[in-house]
Amino acid sequence: MPGHDFRPPAPRRVFCNRTLNMRSVQAIGFDMDYTLVHYDVPEWESRAYAHVQRKLAQMGHPVADLRFDPELFSRGLVIDLELGNIVKANRFGYIVKAAHGTQLMAHDAMRKIYSQVWIDLHEPRWVFLNTLFSLSEACLYGQMVELLDGGKLGELGYGALYELVKTTMDAAHLEGELKADVIADPERFVTVDPDLPRALLDLKHAGKRLFLATNSEWHYTLPMMQFTFDRFLGKGNWQDLFELVIVQSRKPSFFDGAAPFVAIDEHGKEVSTDAKLQAHGRYRGGNARIVQEYLGCGGESILYVGDHMYADVHVSSRIRRWRTALVLRELENEVGQEQVFAEQQQELQRLMTQKERLDREQALLRLCLQRHDHGLPMPAELPETLRPAASGTQAIVERLRELRHDGEALDRRIQPIAIHAGELGHVRWGPLMRAGGDKSQLARQIETHADIYTSRVANLLHLTPFGYLRASRGSLPHDARPPSER
Ligand code: IMP
Ligand code: MG
Repeated sequence: MPGHDFRPPAPRRVFCNRTLNMRSVQAIGFDMDYTLVHYDVPEWESRAYAHVQRKLAQMGHPVADLRFDPELFSRGLVIDLELGNIVKANRFGYIVKAAHGTQLMAHDAMRKIYSQVWIDLHEPRWVFLNTLFSLSEACLYGQMVELLDGGKLGELGYGALYELVKTTMDAAHLEGELKADVIADPERFVTVDPDLPRALLDLKHAGKRLFLATNSEWHYTLPMMQFTFDRFLGKGNWQDLFELVIVQSRKPSFFDGAAPFVAIDEHGKEVSTDAKLQAHGRYRGGNARIVQEYLGCGGESILYVGDHMYADVHVSSRIRRWRTALVLRELENEVGQEQVFAEQQQELQRLMTQKERLDREQALLRLCLQRHDHGLPMPAELPETLRPAASGTQAIVERLRELRHDGEALDRRIQPIAIHAGELGHVRWGPLMRAGGDKSQLARQIETHADIYTSRVANLLHLTPFGYLRASRGSLPHDARPPSER
Protein backbone atom coordinates (compact mmCIF):
# COMPACT_ATOMS: atom_id res chain seq x y z
CA MET A 1 0.00 0.00 0.00
CA PRO A 2 1.54 3.31 -0.97
CA GLY A 3 2.18 5.52 2.07
CA HIS A 4 1.63 9.20 2.54
CA ASP A 5 4.20 11.41 0.83
CA PHE A 6 5.75 13.27 3.75
CA ARG A 7 8.15 15.24 1.60
CA PRO A 8 8.12 19.04 1.81
CA PRO A 9 7.53 21.09 -1.36
CA ALA A 10 10.35 20.66 -3.90
CA PRO A 11 12.16 23.95 -3.15
CA ARG A 12 12.64 22.78 0.47
CA ARG A 13 13.89 19.27 -0.20
CA VAL A 14 17.32 17.87 0.45
CA PHE A 15 18.77 16.59 -2.83
CA CYS A 16 21.16 13.71 -2.91
CA ASN A 17 24.16 12.96 -5.11
CA ARG A 18 25.65 10.21 -2.99
CA THR A 19 23.54 7.97 -0.78
CA LEU A 20 23.55 9.21 2.82
CA ASN A 21 21.92 7.54 5.78
CA MET A 22 21.47 10.15 8.50
CA ARG A 23 21.40 7.34 11.06
CA SER A 24 25.04 6.56 10.40
CA VAL A 25 26.14 10.19 10.75
CA GLN A 26 27.63 10.62 14.22
CA ALA A 27 28.84 14.22 14.08
CA ILE A 28 27.75 17.26 12.10
CA GLY A 29 29.89 20.36 11.61
CA PHE A 30 28.38 23.64 10.50
CA ASP A 31 29.75 26.70 8.82
CA MET A 32 28.17 29.95 10.03
CA ASP A 33 27.95 32.73 7.43
CA TYR A 34 25.33 32.05 4.74
CA THR A 35 24.91 28.57 6.27
CA LEU A 36 23.48 28.80 9.80
CA VAL A 37 23.23 32.56 9.60
CA HIS A 38 21.54 33.63 6.41
CA TYR A 39 21.91 37.22 5.28
CA ASP A 40 19.61 39.35 3.21
CA VAL A 41 21.82 39.36 0.12
CA PRO A 42 21.02 42.85 -1.22
CA GLU A 43 21.46 44.35 2.28
CA TRP A 44 24.67 42.54 3.29
CA GLU A 45 26.37 42.67 -0.08
CA SER A 46 25.48 46.30 -0.71
CA ARG A 47 27.00 47.14 2.68
CA ALA A 48 30.20 45.24 1.82
CA TYR A 49 30.21 46.94 -1.58
CA ALA A 50 29.78 50.39 -0.01
CA HIS A 51 32.75 49.87 2.32
CA VAL A 52 34.99 48.73 -0.52
CA GLN A 53 33.78 51.58 -2.71
CA ARG A 54 34.61 54.08 0.04
CA LYS A 55 38.10 52.64 0.47
CA LEU A 56 38.74 52.72 -3.28
CA ALA A 57 37.52 56.32 -3.47
CA GLN A 58 39.91 57.23 -0.64
CA MET A 59 42.73 55.77 -2.73
CA GLY A 60 41.71 58.17 -5.50
CA HIS A 61 39.83 55.80 -7.81
CA PRO A 62 36.80 57.31 -9.61
CA VAL A 63 34.17 54.90 -8.24
CA ALA A 64 31.77 57.34 -6.56
CA ASP A 65 29.00 56.90 -9.16
CA LEU A 66 28.94 53.10 -9.08
CA ARG A 67 25.97 51.29 -7.51
CA PHE A 68 25.68 47.69 -6.32
CA ASP A 69 23.37 45.51 -8.40
CA PRO A 70 22.69 42.10 -6.81
CA GLU A 71 21.25 40.75 -10.08
CA LEU A 72 24.29 41.33 -12.30
CA PHE A 73 26.07 38.07 -11.52
CA SER A 74 25.41 34.78 -9.80
CA ARG A 75 27.29 32.12 -7.88
CA GLY A 76 29.11 29.55 -10.02
CA LEU A 77 30.27 32.05 -12.66
CA VAL A 78 33.98 32.49 -13.31
CA ILE A 79 36.06 35.66 -13.69
CA ASP A 80 38.51 35.57 -16.59
CA LEU A 81 41.40 37.72 -15.33
CA GLU A 82 43.06 37.80 -18.73
CA LEU A 83 40.17 39.44 -20.59
CA GLY A 84 38.15 41.15 -17.85
CA ASN A 85 35.16 38.90 -18.53
CA ILE A 86 32.76 37.02 -16.30
CA VAL A 87 31.66 33.75 -17.85
CA LYS A 88 29.47 30.70 -17.37
CA ALA A 89 30.79 27.26 -18.28
CA ASN A 90 29.31 23.82 -18.72
CA ARG A 91 30.50 20.66 -16.96
CA PHE A 92 33.41 20.30 -19.38
CA GLY A 93 34.62 23.83 -18.64
CA TYR A 94 33.51 25.11 -22.06
CA ILE A 95 32.20 28.65 -21.91
CA VAL A 96 28.58 29.07 -22.96
CA LYS A 97 27.87 32.66 -21.89
CA ALA A 98 30.08 35.65 -21.19
CA ALA A 99 29.95 39.28 -20.11
CA HIS A 100 32.69 41.82 -20.64
CA GLY A 101 32.54 44.05 -17.59
CA THR A 102 28.82 44.10 -16.87
CA GLN A 103 27.59 43.73 -20.47
CA LEU A 104 26.56 40.32 -21.81
CA MET A 105 28.40 39.51 -25.04
CA ALA A 106 26.64 38.46 -28.24
CA HIS A 107 26.89 34.73 -28.87
CA ASP A 108 29.10 35.07 -31.95
CA ALA A 109 31.54 37.43 -30.23
CA MET A 110 31.74 35.02 -27.29
CA ARG A 111 32.38 32.01 -29.57
CA LYS A 112 35.12 33.92 -31.39
CA ILE A 113 37.05 34.41 -28.16
CA TYR A 114 36.30 31.19 -26.36
CA SER A 115 35.69 28.41 -28.90
CA GLN A 116 39.16 27.01 -28.24
CA VAL A 117 39.33 27.84 -24.53
CA TRP A 118 38.18 25.79 -21.61
CA ILE A 119 38.32 26.57 -17.94
CA ASP A 120 40.75 24.73 -15.71
CA LEU A 121 40.25 26.19 -12.25
CA HIS A 122 43.82 25.26 -11.28
CA GLU A 123 45.04 27.97 -13.66
CA PRO A 124 45.49 31.44 -12.10
CA ARG A 125 43.55 32.96 -15.01
CA TRP A 126 40.19 31.89 -13.52
CA VAL A 127 38.42 32.91 -10.30
CA PHE A 128 35.35 30.86 -9.36
CA LEU A 129 32.47 32.65 -7.61
CA ASN A 130 32.04 30.23 -4.71
CA THR A 131 29.51 31.88 -2.44
CA LEU A 132 26.94 34.65 -2.14
CA PHE A 133 29.74 36.82 -0.69
CA SER A 134 31.16 36.77 -4.24
CA LEU A 135 28.26 38.82 -5.64
CA SER A 136 29.47 42.19 -4.38
CA GLU A 137 33.02 41.44 -5.48
CA ALA A 138 31.97 40.38 -8.99
CA CYS A 139 29.68 43.37 -9.42
CA LEU A 140 32.40 45.83 -8.44
CA TYR A 141 34.97 44.07 -10.62
CA GLY A 142 32.67 44.10 -13.68
CA GLN A 143 31.87 47.78 -13.20
CA MET A 144 35.54 48.68 -12.75
CA VAL A 145 36.48 46.77 -15.91
CA GLU A 146 34.31 49.34 -17.67
CA LEU A 147 36.13 52.21 -15.93
CA LEU A 148 39.41 50.62 -16.97
CA ASP A 149 38.29 50.28 -20.59
CA GLY A 150 37.23 53.94 -20.48
CA GLY A 151 40.80 54.92 -19.52
CA LYS A 152 39.77 56.01 -16.03
CA LEU A 153 42.05 53.68 -14.07
CA GLY A 154 45.38 54.36 -15.74
CA GLU A 155 47.59 51.49 -16.82
CA LEU A 156 46.10 48.77 -14.63
CA GLY A 157 45.57 45.36 -16.32
CA TYR A 158 42.46 43.19 -15.78
CA GLY A 159 44.40 40.89 -13.42
CA ALA A 160 45.83 43.75 -11.35
CA LEU A 161 42.35 45.30 -11.19
CA TYR A 162 41.03 42.08 -9.64
CA GLU A 163 43.86 42.14 -7.10
CA LEU A 164 42.87 45.68 -6.18
CA VAL A 165 39.18 44.76 -5.72
CA LYS A 166 40.01 41.55 -3.85
CA THR A 167 42.54 43.02 -1.40
CA THR A 168 40.21 45.93 -0.68
CA MET A 169 37.31 43.51 -0.15
CA ASP A 170 39.50 41.35 2.16
CA ALA A 171 40.38 44.44 4.17
CA ALA A 172 36.70 45.45 4.47
CA HIS A 173 35.85 41.97 5.82
CA LEU A 174 38.78 41.96 8.22
CA GLU A 175 38.56 45.48 9.57
CA GLY A 176 35.80 46.19 12.04
CA GLU A 177 33.51 48.69 10.32
CA LEU A 178 31.52 46.46 7.96
CA LYS A 179 30.81 43.89 10.64
CA ALA A 180 30.11 46.63 13.21
CA ASP A 181 27.31 47.83 10.88
CA VAL A 182 25.83 44.32 10.82
CA ILE A 183 26.17 43.80 14.57
CA ALA A 184 24.49 47.17 15.20
CA ASP A 185 21.41 46.28 13.16
CA PRO A 186 21.01 42.51 12.74
CA GLU A 187 17.28 42.87 11.96
CA ARG A 188 18.26 44.54 8.74
CA PHE A 189 20.96 42.10 7.66
CA VAL A 190 20.03 38.67 9.04
CA THR A 191 17.08 36.53 7.95
CA VAL A 192 16.00 34.21 10.75
CA ASP A 193 14.08 30.95 10.46
CA PRO A 194 12.46 29.30 13.52
CA ASP A 195 12.80 25.88 11.85
CA LEU A 196 16.59 26.13 12.04
CA PRO A 197 16.97 25.82 15.85
CA ARG A 198 14.33 23.08 15.77
CA ALA A 199 16.28 21.14 13.17
CA LEU A 200 19.50 21.37 15.20
CA LEU A 201 17.71 20.40 18.41
CA ASP A 202 16.26 17.30 16.74
CA LEU A 203 19.73 16.32 15.55
CA LYS A 204 21.24 16.88 18.99
CA HIS A 205 18.45 14.96 20.75
CA ALA A 206 19.06 12.08 18.36
CA GLY A 207 22.64 11.89 19.67
CA LYS A 208 24.45 13.70 16.84
CA ARG A 209 27.47 15.60 18.06
CA LEU A 210 27.26 19.10 16.62
CA PHE A 211 30.11 21.55 16.14
CA LEU A 212 30.54 24.97 14.60
CA ALA A 213 33.57 25.78 12.44
CA THR A 214 33.44 29.31 11.05
CA ASN A 215 36.03 31.64 9.59
CA SER A 216 34.38 34.55 11.39
CA GLU A 217 35.84 36.08 14.54
CA TRP A 218 34.34 35.44 17.98
CA HIS A 219 33.17 39.02 18.45
CA TYR A 220 31.06 38.67 15.28
CA THR A 221 30.04 35.02 15.69
CA LEU A 222 28.56 35.63 19.14
CA PRO A 223 25.97 38.31 18.21
CA MET A 224 25.09 36.59 14.91
CA MET A 225 24.44 33.23 16.57
CA GLN A 226 22.58 34.86 19.47
CA PHE A 227 20.35 36.73 17.06
CA THR A 228 19.67 33.66 14.92
CA PHE A 229 19.09 31.08 17.67
CA ASP A 230 18.57 32.30 21.21
CA ARG A 231 15.04 33.66 20.96
CA PHE A 232 13.81 30.25 19.77
CA LEU A 233 15.59 28.10 22.33
CA GLY A 234 13.62 28.75 25.53
CA LYS A 235 16.17 28.01 28.20
CA GLY A 236 19.89 28.04 27.53
CA ASN A 237 21.56 29.55 24.49
CA TRP A 238 23.01 28.63 21.12
CA GLN A 239 26.31 27.46 22.61
CA ASP A 240 24.50 24.58 24.31
CA LEU A 241 23.74 23.13 20.88
CA PHE A 242 27.40 22.66 20.00
CA GLU A 243 29.98 20.39 21.52
CA LEU A 244 32.75 22.51 19.99
CA VAL A 245 32.70 26.09 18.79
CA ILE A 246 35.59 26.95 16.49
CA VAL A 247 36.05 30.48 15.17
CA GLN A 248 38.65 31.93 12.75
CA SER A 249 39.10 28.40 11.47
CA ARG A 250 40.86 29.55 8.30
CA LYS A 251 39.08 27.19 5.95
CA PRO A 252 40.12 25.86 3.50
CA SER A 253 43.49 25.28 5.22
CA PHE A 254 41.59 24.14 8.34
CA PHE A 255 40.95 20.90 6.44
CA ASP A 256 44.51 20.10 5.42
CA GLY A 257 46.65 22.17 7.84
CA ALA A 258 47.97 21.50 11.33
CA ALA A 259 47.31 24.84 13.07
CA PRO A 260 46.94 24.54 16.85
CA PHE A 261 43.74 25.32 18.70
CA VAL A 262 43.71 28.38 20.95
CA ALA A 263 41.14 28.13 23.74
CA ILE A 264 39.15 31.36 24.26
CA ASP A 265 36.76 32.55 26.95
CA GLU A 266 33.26 33.98 26.48
CA HIS A 267 34.77 37.37 25.63
CA GLY A 268 37.01 35.88 22.96
CA LYS A 269 40.11 36.32 25.14
CA GLU A 270 42.86 33.76 24.78
CA VAL A 271 42.87 31.26 27.63
CA SER A 272 45.54 28.83 26.46
CA THR A 273 47.50 28.19 23.29
CA ASP A 274 47.87 24.72 21.82
CA ALA A 275 44.76 23.70 23.73
CA LYS A 276 43.31 20.20 23.97
CA LEU A 277 39.74 19.92 22.73
CA GLN A 278 37.11 19.48 25.41
CA ALA A 279 33.34 19.20 25.32
CA HIS A 280 31.70 22.64 25.23
CA GLY A 281 35.02 24.36 24.60
CA ARG A 282 35.45 27.51 22.52
CA TYR A 283 38.46 27.73 20.23
CA ARG A 284 40.20 29.82 17.62
CA GLY A 285 42.12 28.34 14.67
CA GLY A 286 42.84 24.64 14.81
CA ASN A 287 42.45 21.94 12.21
CA ALA A 288 40.01 19.25 11.10
CA ARG A 289 42.33 16.30 11.78
CA ILE A 290 42.34 17.06 15.52
CA VAL A 291 38.56 17.54 15.48
CA GLN A 292 38.21 14.10 13.94
CA GLU A 293 40.59 12.55 16.49
CA TYR A 294 38.62 14.19 19.29
CA LEU A 295 35.34 12.88 17.88
CA GLY A 296 36.91 9.46 17.54
CA CYS A 297 35.06 8.49 14.38
CA GLY A 298 35.94 7.99 10.74
CA GLY A 299 35.43 10.72 8.14
CA GLU A 300 32.48 8.77 6.74
CA SER A 301 30.53 9.44 9.97
CA ILE A 302 31.11 13.20 9.94
CA LEU A 303 28.90 15.49 7.88
CA TYR A 304 30.08 19.04 7.22
CA VAL A 305 27.52 21.61 6.09
CA GLY A 306 28.60 24.82 4.37
CA ASP A 307 27.85 27.31 1.62
CA HIS A 308 31.33 27.82 0.12
CA MET A 309 31.77 25.43 -2.79
CA TYR A 310 35.53 25.20 -2.37
CA ALA A 311 36.46 26.04 1.23
CA ASP A 312 33.58 24.15 2.89
CA VAL A 313 32.71 21.32 0.55
CA HIS A 314 35.38 20.54 -2.04
CA VAL A 315 38.30 20.50 0.41
CA SER A 316 36.55 18.71 3.28
CA SER A 317 35.42 15.92 0.98
CA ARG A 318 38.70 15.61 -0.92
CA ILE A 319 41.17 15.94 1.96
CA ARG A 320 39.32 14.56 4.97
CA ARG A 321 36.78 12.37 3.18
CA TRP A 322 34.05 13.85 5.34
CA ARG A 323 30.50 13.64 4.07
CA THR A 324 29.38 17.05 2.80
CA ALA A 325 26.26 19.17 2.38
CA LEU A 326 26.18 22.34 0.29
CA VAL A 327 23.74 25.09 1.14
CA LEU A 328 22.46 26.93 -1.94
CA ARG A 329 19.78 29.42 -0.96
CA GLU A 330 19.21 30.51 -4.57
CA LEU A 331 17.87 27.04 -5.30
CA GLU A 332 14.62 27.81 -3.51
CA ASN A 333 13.51 30.39 -6.01
CA GLU A 334 14.91 28.42 -8.92
CA VAL A 335 13.26 25.10 -8.07
CA GLY A 336 9.99 26.97 -7.47
CA GLN A 337 10.21 28.52 -10.93
CA GLU A 338 11.07 25.17 -12.49
CA GLN A 339 7.95 23.66 -10.92
CA VAL A 340 5.79 26.33 -12.54
CA PHE A 341 7.61 25.79 -15.84
CA ALA A 342 7.34 21.98 -15.74
CA GLU A 343 4.60 21.65 -18.39
CA GLN A 344 6.41 23.95 -20.78
CA GLN A 345 9.57 21.98 -20.15
CA GLN A 346 7.72 18.83 -21.21
CA GLU A 347 6.48 20.57 -24.32
CA LEU A 348 10.05 21.65 -25.06
CA GLN A 349 11.20 18.06 -24.69
CA ARG A 350 8.45 16.90 -27.06
CA LEU A 351 9.40 19.50 -29.68
CA MET A 352 13.09 18.64 -29.36
CA THR A 353 12.27 14.97 -29.97
CA GLN A 354 10.41 16.00 -33.13
CA LYS A 355 13.39 18.10 -34.17
CA GLU A 356 15.78 15.19 -33.64
CA ARG A 357 13.60 12.97 -35.87
CA LEU A 358 13.44 15.64 -38.51
CA ASP A 359 17.23 16.08 -38.39
CA ARG A 360 17.69 12.32 -38.78
CA GLU A 361 15.46 12.19 -41.83
CA GLN A 362 17.23 15.18 -43.38
CA ALA A 363 20.61 13.56 -42.84
CA LEU A 364 19.43 10.31 -44.42
CA LEU A 365 18.01 12.06 -47.49
CA ARG A 366 21.20 14.07 -47.98
CA LEU A 367 23.12 10.83 -47.90
CA CYS A 368 20.74 9.42 -50.54
CA LEU A 369 21.50 12.32 -52.89
CA GLN A 370 25.22 11.84 -52.33
CA ARG A 371 24.98 8.09 -52.98
CA HIS A 372 22.88 8.72 -56.07
CA ASP A 373 25.55 11.09 -57.44
CA HIS A 374 28.17 8.39 -56.97
CA GLY A 375 26.02 5.60 -58.38
CA LEU A 376 25.90 3.77 -55.06
CA PRO A 377 22.91 1.80 -53.66
CA MET A 378 20.38 3.66 -51.52
CA PRO A 379 20.36 3.05 -47.71
CA ALA A 380 18.00 0.20 -46.76
CA GLU A 381 15.85 2.39 -44.49
CA LEU A 382 14.80 4.73 -47.35
CA PRO A 383 11.01 4.29 -47.93
CA GLU A 384 9.90 2.83 -51.25
CA THR A 385 8.12 6.04 -52.29
CA LEU A 386 11.33 8.04 -52.15
CA ARG A 387 13.57 5.59 -53.99
CA PRO A 388 14.92 7.23 -57.15
CA ALA A 389 14.81 4.02 -59.27
CA ALA A 390 12.14 5.22 -61.71
CA SER A 391 11.66 8.96 -61.34
CA GLY A 392 15.16 10.15 -60.25
CA THR A 393 15.78 12.21 -57.09
CA GLN A 394 12.85 14.57 -57.51
CA ALA A 395 10.86 13.04 -54.61
CA ILE A 396 13.85 13.30 -52.27
CA VAL A 397 14.52 16.92 -53.18
CA GLU A 398 10.84 17.71 -52.65
CA ARG A 399 10.80 15.96 -49.25
CA LEU A 400 13.96 17.83 -48.19
CA ARG A 401 12.26 21.12 -49.01
CA GLU A 402 9.28 20.10 -46.86
CA LEU A 403 11.56 19.11 -44.01
CA ARG A 404 13.40 22.43 -44.13
CA HIS A 405 10.06 24.22 -43.95
CA ASP A 406 8.86 22.04 -41.05
CA GLY A 407 12.19 22.55 -39.26
CA GLU A 408 11.87 26.32 -39.47
CA ALA A 409 8.32 26.17 -38.11
CA LEU A 410 9.49 23.91 -35.30
CA ASP A 411 12.34 26.30 -34.44
CA ARG A 412 9.88 29.15 -34.19
CA ARG A 413 7.94 27.17 -31.58
CA ILE A 414 11.04 25.99 -29.72
CA GLN A 415 12.81 29.33 -29.48
CA PRO A 416 10.55 31.22 -27.03
CA ILE A 417 10.25 28.22 -24.70
CA ALA A 418 14.02 27.63 -24.79
CA ILE A 419 14.66 31.31 -24.03
CA HIS A 420 12.27 31.12 -21.09
CA ALA A 421 13.99 27.92 -19.84
CA GLY A 422 17.34 29.71 -20.02
CA GLU A 423 16.07 32.51 -17.78
CA LEU A 424 14.82 30.36 -14.89
CA GLY A 425 16.42 31.26 -11.58
CA HIS A 426 18.44 34.14 -12.99
CA VAL A 427 17.27 36.32 -15.87
CA ARG A 428 20.80 37.00 -17.15
CA TRP A 429 22.63 33.76 -16.37
CA GLY A 430 19.89 31.13 -16.14
CA PRO A 431 19.67 28.15 -13.78
CA LEU A 432 22.60 27.68 -11.40
CA MET A 433 23.16 24.07 -12.30
CA ARG A 434 22.48 24.18 -16.04
CA ALA A 435 24.46 25.68 -18.87
CA GLY A 436 22.92 25.65 -22.33
CA GLY A 437 21.53 22.15 -22.78
CA ASP A 438 23.97 20.65 -20.30
CA LYS A 439 24.96 20.70 -16.64
CA SER A 440 26.90 23.76 -15.48
CA GLN A 441 30.43 23.76 -14.10
CA LEU A 442 28.91 24.44 -10.67
CA ALA A 443 26.67 21.37 -11.08
CA ARG A 444 29.73 19.27 -11.88
CA GLN A 445 31.49 20.50 -8.74
CA ILE A 446 28.41 19.85 -6.66
CA GLU A 447 27.96 16.31 -7.93
CA THR A 448 31.65 15.58 -7.47
CA HIS A 449 32.05 17.01 -3.97
CA ALA A 450 28.69 17.53 -2.26
CA ASP A 451 26.98 14.35 -1.08
CA ILE A 452 23.80 16.31 -0.59
CA TYR A 453 22.62 19.86 -1.31
CA THR A 454 19.69 21.93 -0.18
CA SER A 455 18.55 25.54 -0.03
CA ARG A 456 18.84 25.98 3.76
CA VAL A 457 19.92 24.06 6.85
CA ALA A 458 16.35 24.24 8.23
CA ASN A 459 15.37 21.74 5.51
CA LEU A 460 17.08 19.05 7.63
CA LEU A 461 14.00 19.35 9.86
CA HIS A 462 11.92 17.51 7.24
CA LEU A 463 14.67 15.01 6.54
CA THR A 464 14.79 14.15 10.29
CA PRO A 465 17.89 12.69 12.00
CA PHE A 466 16.74 9.27 10.79
CA GLY A 467 16.26 9.99 7.10
CA TYR A 468 17.78 7.90 4.36
CA LEU A 469 18.73 9.75 1.20
CA ARG A 470 19.29 7.52 -1.80
CA ALA A 471 21.18 8.70 -4.82
CA SER A 472 19.09 8.53 -7.96
CA ARG A 473 20.27 6.21 -10.69
CA GLY A 474 20.95 9.23 -12.89
CA SER A 475 20.48 9.24 -16.62
CA LEU A 476 22.88 8.13 -19.32
CA PRO A 477 22.72 8.89 -23.04
CA HIS A 478 22.20 5.20 -23.85
CA ASP A 479 19.33 4.67 -21.38
CA ALA A 480 16.18 3.19 -22.95
CA ARG A 481 13.69 6.00 -23.60
CA PRO A 482 9.87 5.77 -23.80
CA PRO A 483 8.64 5.37 -27.42
CA SER A 484 7.46 9.02 -27.53
CA GLU A 485 11.04 10.22 -26.95
CA ARG A 486 12.91 7.83 -29.17
P1 IMP B 1 32.06 31.27 7.36
O1 IMP B 1 31.30 31.22 6.11
O2 IMP B 1 31.22 31.17 8.58
O3 IMP B 1 33.26 30.37 7.40
O4 IMP B 1 32.66 32.76 7.45
C1 IMP B 1 33.04 33.46 6.34
C2 IMP B 1 33.88 34.62 6.81
O5 IMP B 1 34.68 35.02 5.72
C3 IMP B 1 33.10 35.82 7.26
O6 IMP B 1 33.69 36.34 8.42
C4 IMP B 1 33.24 36.80 6.13
O7 IMP B 1 33.28 38.13 6.59
C5 IMP B 1 34.57 36.39 5.55
N1 IMP B 1 34.66 36.66 4.12
C6 IMP B 1 33.75 36.43 3.17
N2 IMP B 1 34.18 36.86 1.97
C7 IMP B 1 35.41 37.36 2.17
C8 IMP B 1 36.38 37.95 1.30
O8 IMP B 1 36.18 38.11 0.09
N3 IMP B 1 37.54 38.33 1.88
C9 IMP B 1 37.80 38.14 3.20
N4 IMP B 1 36.91 37.60 4.05
C10 IMP B 1 35.74 37.22 3.53
MG1 MG C 1 29.90 30.41 4.94
